[in-house]
Amino acid sequence: MSKKKKSNSNQTFAISVFVGIVVLVGALFFVSKLQDKKSEAVYPTITGVKDVKVNGFDTKDQPTLSNKEAKIEVVEFGDYKCPICADWNRVVFPQLKADYIDKGLINFSFINYPFISKDSNLAALASEVVYKHDKESFWKFQEEIYLKQEDETKTWATQDKLASIAKSVIPNLDVKQFKKDLYKKETMKQVANDVAIANHYGVQGTPTIFVNGKAVDNPSLESIKAAIDAELNK
Ligand code: CA
Repeated sequence: MSKKKKSNSNQTFAISVFVGIVVLVGALFFVSKLQDKKSEAVYPTITGVKDVKVNGFDTKDQPTLSNKEAKIEVVEFGDYKCPICADWNRVVFPQLKADYIDKGLINFSFINYPFISKDSNLAALASEVVYKHDKESFWKFQEEIYLKQEDETKTWATQDKLASIAKSVIPNLDVKQFKKDLYKKETMKQVANDVAIANHYGVQGTPTIFVNGKAVDNPSLESIKAAIDAELNK
């Protein structure tokens, strides 16, 4: 082979390698975009929040344990992926229920504020589907999802896991329909409504507790009791 020919073939080889790399990088970029799209389809972002006109806590559309006579409204904002919310529901909530809800002294509502990660949104959507299906089962679903909570850095609130938790509290649940309902406009509207209320009241983390429209400094039983007792004594 002459020197010139050898140099030409080296050049051709270098160009081929370069083109190959460009094609490979392009393909990887395409695949990662495709995966993002797939992930977004499964774990949607909450849309329509800005279109919501917030009208107080609007608890008539929220899961509420109520007593018509009670004048005090307690609201919890929660994210099912939040470990402190799981502790709060296991430790503080039963005490609050025994001392105030069961005695008919307060109305207690739950509002979604999914903010931790992409599957927080899917878990919030699932809670709305359960609530729409059966209001009573909502509270059992909430208890179960916190019991089955995993590490917050992992994506664990999958369609399958949420459906299996829902099925465990609603035995006659149509799982296929449940999964479809997660992505219905109406379900998204409910969570968008919740997030808009949270934004309106300046909620920045979970659990955040409000007593008669005022945020309690911290979600400890002592602080919440003090806030409720102050309202009861008014
Ligand atoms: Ca809601």
